[in-house]
Amino acid sequence: MLKEDRKAIDQCVRCGACRSVCPVFQESGWESSNARGRMLILRGLNSGLSPDHQVLDSLNSCTTCAICTEICPAGISPPGLVESGRRQLASKGITTGKQRLLAGNILSSGNTFGIKDERLSWLADRSLISKKAEYAYFVGCMNSYRYRETAARTFAILHRFGATVLPAERCCGSPLLRTGFEAHKLVKENSRQIREIGASTVITGCAGCYTTLKNSYPNEFEVKSVAEFLAEHISELYLNRLDLNVSYHDPCHLGRHSRIFDQPRELIEAICCLKEMKTSRENAGCCGGGGGVRFGYKDLSMKMAQKRLAEAPDCIDYIVTSCPLCIRNLRDAGGADRVIDLVDLLTMALP
Ligand code: SF4
Ligand code: SF4
Repeated sequence: MLKEDRKAIDQCVRCGACRSVCPVFQESGWESSNARGRMLILRGLNSGLSPDHQVLDSLNSCTTCAICTEICPAGISPPGLVESGRRQLASKGITTGKQRLLAGNILSSGNTFGIKDERLSWLADRSLISKKAEYAYFVGCMNSYRYRETAARTFAILHRFGATVLPAERCCGSPLLRTGFEAHKLVKENSRQIREIGASTVITGCAGCYTTLKNSYPNEFEVKSVAEFLAEHISELYLNRLDLNVSYHDPCHLGRHSRIFDQPRELIEAICCLKEMKTSRENAGCCGGGGGVRFGYKDLSMKMAQKRLAEAPDCIDYIVTSCPLCIRNLRDAGGADRVIDLVDLLTMALP
């Protein structure tokens, strides 16, 4: 573990403020599942504590939502330190079976699902792929395989601005990096393709891809979320008004981690009536799916998603978000078709 991470862990003053906001702790009630408990465990690991399955559960059940970072009086960022602890354990081969399954899926197939289907099957007309372009749309595993209509709709809009896609995109590496593994090969391969296209900007509709491309890839291109890009081009979309009331769910990695709060709201308010959820922006509740928790602790993940759904006002037609993992988790927890992607909403408003 890096010296600065050890130092930051030691800065936790054990005040317990994080107990009041941690969504995992609110479900489990175990001290080891809030930021304070996790910092104590990390301190123990750094002092030679032998990791058992409870240590693994403590570190791996953090969704990396960063709600604790917002209120921590010591100014530390527990999710980054939790990831540092996961890396420390994974580097020693101390991982769970689920972590190894996820890593195996990605390394063998290039996607989180471990399936061999063609990644670009959502794109019927391959002549739309350009060899060179200023903008590259990075689709991500979830939209490539689970929400192909959203991938097609996103590309249909972005292609109007000259965007292309990577000819052989791989997983961005987020699930590996979030759970303590390395993702060098994926980063190298995707970066090579982006370089070959000559794209100055990579646009993505997935919060996990966004954070990863922005923070873990070579600093050779700008990274924008679909919400940011389309908000910049809103006047060129000629959107119609819709008679709908919607809420916006802030994905943790787009909102708290990257401070993208205004752009999706600007787009929504241009076409329909936005009614905020009980918590929003930097205080927004977590969908419960991030940090490998959906894959590793499904029941816990669903409970957090149900709690988040209950924060939506009664009178709304849709809960809109801009991350396919949030969509998956919220839909599975009972939100069903009421939870949609920002691009799905915008498509309804296109002329
Ligand atoms: S809020 Fe920060 S300083 Fe306080 S216990 Fe939690 S991690 Fe430690
Ligand atoms: S990042 Fe979220 S889940 Fe993890 S310790 Fe902080 S509040 Fe809890």
